[in-house]
Amino acid sequence: CNPVTCVGAGVPSNTTLFDRSKEAIPGGVNSSIRAFKAVGGEPYVVARASGATITDVEGTTYLDLVQSYGAVILGHAHPAVTAAITDAVGAGTSYGAPTPREMKLAEEISSRMPSCERVRLMNSGTEATSTAIRLARGVTGRDRIVTFAGNFHGATDALLVAGGSGVATLGLPGTAGVPNASVAETMVVPYNVVPQLDDKVAAVIVEPVAANMGVVAPVAGFLEGLRAECDRVGALLIFDEVITGFRLAPGGAQAKYDIRADITCFGKVIGGGLPIGAVGGRRDIMEHLSPLGPVFHAGTLSGNPLATAAGLAALDTLTPDVYIELLARVRHLSSKMRDACASAGFEASFPVVGTLFGIVCGDAASDAVTNFDEAKRTDEAAYSRFFQAMLAEGVALAPGAYEAMFVGLGHTDEVIDRIAEATFRAATT
Ligand code: PLP
Repeated sequence: CNPVTCVGAGVPSNTTLFDRSKEAIPGGVNSSIRAFKAVGGEPYVVARASGATITDVEGTTYLDLVQSYGAVILGHAHPAVTAAITDAVGAGTSYGAPTPREMKLAEEISSRMPSCERVRLMNSGTEATSTAIRLARGVTGRDRIVTFAGNFHGATDALLVAGGSGVATLGLPGTAGVPNASVAETMVVPYNVVPQLDDKVAAVIVEPVAANMGVVAPVAGFLEGLRAECDRVGALLIFDEVITGFRLAPGGAQAKYDIRADITCFGKVIGGGLPIGAVGGRRDIMEHLSPLGPVFHAGTLSGNPLATAAGLAALDTLTPDVYIELLARVRHLSSKMRDACASAGFEASFPVVGTLFGIVCGDAASDAVTNFDEAKRTDEAAYSRFFQAMLAEGVALAPGAYEAMFVGLGHTDEVIDRIAEATFRAATT
């Protein structure tokens, strides 16, 4: 059905639709941060999107720096992805049996990221991190997991402690509904400090570049130190590359920093904007997964024909030249936004790590952020004002001060110029 008129006669407003949503869906949203609770106001209800733009049901078009929180890297409705999905859909949408495309996508991931000798596909980043943890515990016979404050690994019970992204935005220490037993073996330590491990630790899970407390780079020696410390005590190193995988570099963060993870989690980019997740790793580790080994994993829609078609089209388009282009665009946009805020007298910094960038508002903007405590010094109220002013100027940012901004192939020079002009006007208000 037509995405706008399917809900009834006439063209509804954002408000009437969102009010109606709230009567059907808790909070009117299917992912908490979308509700605008942190920044105030009500969300625009999306009708369609194309390239760098997103258009709501009232016909207002925004320049979009959310890009489905990084799932869409080629821009919305990229012709290669749309054609791949269209091509695939007539042959059925899910079978419950192996397919050539899922094999091809696993091969593509392995060839771009050599630490992933085997790859298991699933349906979300959350499923990837929870499977990775189960796998690490199953392989090592140990229970303890070490995680970093301000990192976010999705809605995985064992990892919902001092998390970034929506957990940080909503000011939650964790979440209700997670029994103490689920987090009893989770140790939270500060980002960018190599913890001393012991032989109780099954795995260390880390965002190799943190992108859910703003964008925070690993300090020199941090990832190397984690690798060495894991090796010292026989723990596994899990890189959560759900954001960084195939966005930061052709081989993800582990290529950029030249570190081999034992297990890697994926999502977002590898599905070309369709629901997907994956766990990859060393063959001897991955073969602990069922049916070869004792660690159970299964999923009705895993390796979905449409998601794998879209993911393959996205990865095919992501040639090394595209990363060079994305790098240039991120540098260009972040420096223009930095200059615009500086000339408007609005205190903000725009930390850049490769093709990722974030924003820090207020006094904290003058210092480089290295961990969650420092990230939390961002002025959330100033971000909310900036967010609303940008929206009024036609630019959609994520409705939370701790999210990254996502630039893709849709963000042409002209789009970047328009965002920079909007930034100046928004920063002045
Ligand atoms: N890991 C990281 C680093 C993420 O940023 C996210 C989501 O934003 C996830 C895991 C969870 O992925 P999903 O939302 O697909 O479950």
